[in-house]
Amino acid sequence: MIKGYAGRVLDVDLATQTATYQPLDEDTARLYIGGKGYGTRLLYDMTRPGIDPLGPDNPLIFATGPLNGSVAPQSNRFAVVCKSPLTGGIGNAACGGSFAYGLKRAGIDVVIVRNQASAPLRIEIDGADDRVRFLPAGELWGKGTYATQAALDKKKYHAVIGPAGEHQVLYAGIVSNERIAGRTGVGAVMGSKRLKAISVNGPRKLEMDDEDAFKAYTKWVREMFRDHPVLGEKLKRYGTAGIVNTTNARNIIPTHNFKYGHHPEAMQISGEWMEDHELTGVKSSCIHCPVTCGRDVELEGVGRVKGPEYETVALLGTNLEVLDLKRIAEWNYLADDLGMDTISLGAVLSFAMELQERGMLNAGLRFGDVSGVSDMIRDIGHRRALGDHLADGVKRLAERYGGHEFAMHVKGLELSAYDPRGSYAQGVEYATTNRGGCHVQGASMYLESVGPLTINPMNLKLKADIPILQQNLACAINSMVLCIFTTYGMIPKQVHNLDPNSFTYKLVTTLFENSGPLMRTAMQLKGKPMMWFEKWLTYITGTTVSGGHLQEIGGRIFNLERMYNLREGLTAADDTLPPRMLHEPTFKGMTSGHPLPQLLPRYYTLRGWDAQGVPTRRTLERLQVRI
Ligand code: SF4
Repeated sequence: MIKGYAGRVLDVDLATQTATYQPLDEDTARLYIGGKGYGTRLLYDMTRPGIDPLGPDNPLIFATGPLNGSVAPQSNRFAVVCKSPLTGGIGNAACGGSFAYGLKRAGIDVVIVRNQASAPLRIEIDGADDRVRFLPAGELWGKGTYATQAALDKKKYHAVIGPAGEHQVLYAGIVSNERIAGRTGVGAVMGSKRLKAISVNGPRKLEMDDEDAFKAYTKWVREMFRDHPVLGEKLKRYGTAGIVNTTNARNIIPTHNFKYGHHPEAMQISGEWMEDHELTGVKSSCIHCPVTCGRDVELEGVGRVKGPEYETVALLGTNLEVLDLKRIAEWNYLADDLGMDTISLGAVLSFAMELQERGMLNAGLRFGDVSGVSDMIRDIGHRRALGDHLADGVKRLAERYGGHEFAMHVKGLELSAYDPRGSYAQGVEYATTNRGGCHVQGASMYLESVGPLTINPMNLKLKADIPILQQNLACAINSMVLCIFTTYGMIPKQVHNLDPNSFTYKLVTTLFENSGPLMRTAMQLKGKPMMWFEKWLTYITGTTVSGGHLQEIGGRIFNLERMYNLREGLTAADDTLPPRMLHEPTFKGMTSGHPLPQLLPRYYTLRGWDAQGVPTRRTLERLQVRI
C-alpha cells in the first residue's frame, strides 16, 4: 500500500448491521488522492442514475486523505460524499474537528455507509481490535449535536447529526466537535439512514515515506504560517469574520437578500468588533491547526460557545439586516446544535423575508427584525409548521411561493457570502461549480476582491481562467483533505504588504491580469514540488506531486463530478446565476448585472467541453476519467 494510507475501506450495511473491511483501491488513490475525489469515484461506480437521495440506495461515504493523521497544519479534515438531496447532483461537504484523525488512528481511509436502519442506531469502531458495534440510539434521537457528543465515549472521535438531520432538513449537516460538514444536505442523508453517530479511535500511527523530511519541513511551514499576514495575523486574531470590513468596502457582502452589497453598519458584525466586544479570549481550532480561526463567545444562559464565522455573520447578519452579534451568535449556536448549514439557513430566512415584504408569504419574518427568527430556526430544525417548507431550501420555496428572480441559489445550493456582481470570477465559479453556489470549491474571490491583489473584479480578463485554476486546485486540496485556507497562504507576505497605491502593486496586478496564456501553460507543467502541500504529499506518499500534477488530478475530479451531474439530469442550463445577479446592478455606473453569458463559452472551451457543457471524449481520455 502507498504510504500515507491505512489501506482499508470499512463497508457498513445498516440494514443487516454488518461491517466488512475491504482493501483501498491503490489505482483510485493514485488518480483521485482520497477525500472527495475517492468518494466521488466510489459514488459514481456504486450507484445507478436517478436514485432517491433520501432512499436506501444513496451511500454515505466518509473519506480521509493521505495527510490525515499527520501533524501537518490544516490537515485533519474529512470529506462526506453522497447524492445531494438539495441539488439532486453531486453532494459533498468537508469538516474539520477531529473525526478524520480518529478514523486514521483506527486504520481506516474510507467508510461507506449503505442502506437504512429500521430504528435509530449509532456505530462504534474500535481500531485496537477492528470491532464494529451497532448500538441502539433511541435515547440520543432528538438530542442536539452538543448533547449527543457529550453523551458519547470521551476516548473516541465522533461524527453526529442533530434534529435537523433526523428530520431530513435538506441542508442538514454532520458535526464533529464544533465544526460542521454543512453543505448539500449530507446530514439529511445520514438522518434518512437513522444513523445518529459514528465514533472511532485506534492505536495506529500514520506511516510516511520520508518522515524526517516531513517533520523538518512542517516545522518550517508552521513558522511561515506564524508570520503570514492572513494565516498568522488576520485569521488568527479576528477569525474569518475579520474579512467583513473588506467585503463591505468592496460592495460584495450580501445585504437584504443580496439586493445590495454594502451595509453602513457592517462593522458591528466584524471580527474586529467581536474581539473588542464579544470574544471571551479563547480561540479554537481543528486538531493540530495553529491558525486557530475559531473563537468562543459568551452566550447568556448557555455559557461559552463557538463564535460565528464570516459566512454566518454575513448571511444571518447584513443579509437579514441584523447587526447584533450577540443575536447572530445565538442563532449560530442554535443552528449548530440542530445540525444545519448556516449559509443555506441565512439564505432561506432572507428569501422568506423578501417574500413577506412583497406580500407573497406570511412567515412573520421581517428584515431588521429579530423577533420570530429563533423560533423559526427551531421550527425548521424540527420541520414544524411553516418551518417544514423552509427546511426544503430556497429553490423549492420559490417553486412553492414564487420569487424565482430573487431566489439566491445555484443548482439548488444557496449562495455563500460574496456577491458575484463585484467579483466576476467568483460568479463564474458559482455558476459552474458542481455542487452548486459555493465559494470553498475554488475561492476565486480571494484573487480578485478579498485578497491582497484584487485582480480588477469588474473586467473580463482572466475571469474564465481563474475559476478553472481555483476549482481544480480546490478539488485536489479537498481530496488530500486540507483546509481551503491553506491556499490563502500561497500569496507571499511581501505581496500582502504592498501599498495598493504603489507602482509595484499596479505592476504586479497588471502582469497578473495579462498572464492568461502563461498561467495555462504553467498549470500543465509537472516539475518539482514547490508549495508546502505538494511537498507534504510527496514526503508522505513517496510519489512526486507538483502544481501541474494537482491541476491534473483536480481537473479529473471536477470532470468526474460534472459527468455525475450530467448523468443525474443537470445540464448547461443549470450553469447560471440567480436572475437578480444577472440583471440587477448594484454599483454606481453599473447598468446590468454579472456578465456570465459573455464568460461561460470561454470557460467551456478552456475546460475542453462542447458548447452544451459536456466534456469531450478527448478531455475525458486526457484526464483518465472512466465513465
Ligand atoms: S484554518 Fe481554521 S478551519 Fe482551517 S483547519 Fe485551521 S482551524 Fe480548521
